[in-house]
Amino acid sequence: MKPTPRALAIGAHPDDVEVGCGGTLAHLARAGWHCTIIIATNGNKGSHDPARSPHLLAATREEEQRAAAAQLGVQQVLFLRYNDGELEYTPALRMELALYIRHLQPQRVFTHDPWRMYMLHPDHRAVGFAVLDGIVSARDHLYLPGFTQLGIGVWRPATLDLWMAEQPNHTEDISDTLETKFAALDAHTSQMQAGREWVQRMRQRALEAGQAAGYLAGEAFRRIAL
Ligand SMILES: [Zn+2]
Repeated sequence: MKPTPRALAIGAHPDDVEVGCGGTLAHLARAGWHCTIIIATNGNKGSHDPARSPHLLAATREEEQRAAAAQLGVQQVLFLRYNDGELEYTPALRMELALYIRHLQPQRVFTHDPWRMYMLHPDHRAVGFAVLDGIVSARDHLYLPGFTQLGIGVWRPATLDLWMAEQPNHTEDISDTLETKFAALDAHTSQMQAGREWVQRMRQRALEAGQAAGYLAGEAFRRIAL
């Protein structure tokens, strides 16, 4: 029997993964892939309501993320629970992500494009760079030698796809999973304060990305072959 292929999507906040690659993950899950989502921060600054408790917000957003993952058919969600807005690119974060990659052994990895010009949110850049560099530490045996000795050996994913990419070079067909992507986004109820306008923009983006590649709907990425 062929081993189950695995995908790993790493986002800074609850909802980033659905925005970036929700349709693609749903597609992979339907095709029998085992999918894992890692969320780096607890999202506890994701509100414009001054009365909202950041502690309660963090708990709510984990529940929402679990519900969104269930919509996509994603089997596993891991929360790293760093404080929202305070994530920094450090060797420790790079090593942590490298160990998840070695342990989970995904063929495909998805994350933020840290080179996206004028992207405001610092957590998105920190995660993007830490994943890129974490893949190098996961893949090359002279990194993390103690873990190699423990049996957490090297792992080289086949591809890394950067979502919301500055220069996309690959589009996934999500015609069949467009509505699943938006059902998953809908699970992030606490983030719908901005109204439906934002969701409409996302939908327009998916339709445009798809049409440019000859599909009904798509998610565009910068693909890096590893
Ligand atoms: Zn985000």
